[in-house]
Amino acid sequence: MKTVVSLIVFLLLVCVGVFAPVHSQSQASSLAIIHANMIDGVSAAPIRDATLLIRDGRIESISTSHTEIPSGISVFDLKGRWLLPGFVDAHAHLADLGAARRALASGATTVRCLGVNHFVDIGFRELNHAGVADIPDVVAAGYHVRPRPAEELFLDIPKMKDLMGGVKGTESVRRVVRAMIDRGVDVIKIMATERAGLPDTDPRKRVFSDEELIAAVDEARKSNIYVAAHAHGDEGAAAAVRAGVRSIEHGTYLSDQTLTMMKEKGTYLVPTIATVIDLIDTGGDYDDPVLSVRGRAMLPRIRETTAHALKMGVKIVAGTDTGYAPSSRRRIPHEIIELVNIGMTPMDAIKAATSVAAACIGVDKRTGSIKTGMEADFIAIERDPTADISAIQDVIVVINNGKIAVNRLNW
Ligand SMILES: [Zn+2]
Repeated sequence: MKTVVSLIVFLLLVCVGVFAPVHSQSQASSLAIIHANMIDGVSAAPIRDATLLIRDGRIESISTSHTEIPSGISVFDLKGRWLLPGFVDAHAHLADLGAARRALASGATTVRCLGVNHFVDIGFRELNHAGVADIPDVVAAGYHVRPRPAEELFLDIPKMKDLMGGVKGTESVRRVVRAMIDRGVDVIKIMATERAGLPDTDPRKRVFSDEELIAAVDEARKSNIYVAAHAHGDEGAAAAVRAGVRSIEHGTYLSDQTLTMMKEKGTYLVPTIATVIDLIDTGGDYDDPVLSVRGRAMLPRIRETTAHALKMGVKIVAGTDTGYAPSSRRRIPHEIIELVNIGMTPMDAIKAATSVAAACIGVDKRTGSIKTGMEADFIAIERDPTADISAIQDVIVVINNGKIAVNRLNW
């Protein structure tokens, strides 16, 4: 009898929309979100007081007029808080499930993982697609294609042992690209210049020839896979753009000539300003005096280049380049704020982390904007981010494929 009474009370509370039980909602296949001030990721202006119906992980309807909520549906009342598409972090390195969970908790419902060992990124993607809702959807690159691959690659694919001495020449590059595709990656990550995050490398120095870059793009294209190129220095970046990569990652020293070519070809720029700040700071993903000095030299350049790219109309996308480790100091909201700092409007910076990022990484048919038929990937925040972009740092709700993954509303 007692259970029956509590059940009736529970149902009444659900009907008036004041009760938000996380567990029953996270299991529910249907959900109504009411009283949401919504930024949909594509429109120029926010949409006030929206009601969204979610079914089986997808957005069934969106309305701004009075909507009858079908009976039996869990109701999630945002009470005027702000609903945005889940963020898309176009550049991260998730090494384990803890990192994947931290990325999601910071608001990233989709992450493009651009280089990680042992194909764990493919594992995250498969878990997410199988219904595990506490990690983001992942667009996976497997290992970086670079002259000196990570040694772990040869533990995973011992038959490539002859490349332990180096990946040189178009046929070797094609073999590594094919090996990634055979393992099920969504994107090929190639190094067009050396890294910035190691004290003994020179980020301006290019590492592959024109022919090798062209071979990588060509080999990937045969399987309908695109290439993202890491490049700081202009020479390597320009060669990668000419070869037909989809995005330049970092792009610190890009010349106006290269930016013009990117604009013409529709190549995206993922500047990852947040990680350059991390080079400078003590702690975080990098903690090295050499890198700190380098970061101080790079930061004004990457900001200047990104501001230039913005003025020239190059498509700019938010990516953190962080590992989302316990000690990481950067999250996707930081990069969005950095994009506002270099001159983007808050609305455009949000698009750079939602619909534009989704198009860059190849998932815009299913996520990155709030539209009927799309995956129900959302975050909620307290305040209007178009009035003050810092509001996006305080993510209080994350809904991942229609399931409530983070709920800080009742704290
Ligand atoms: Zn990276």
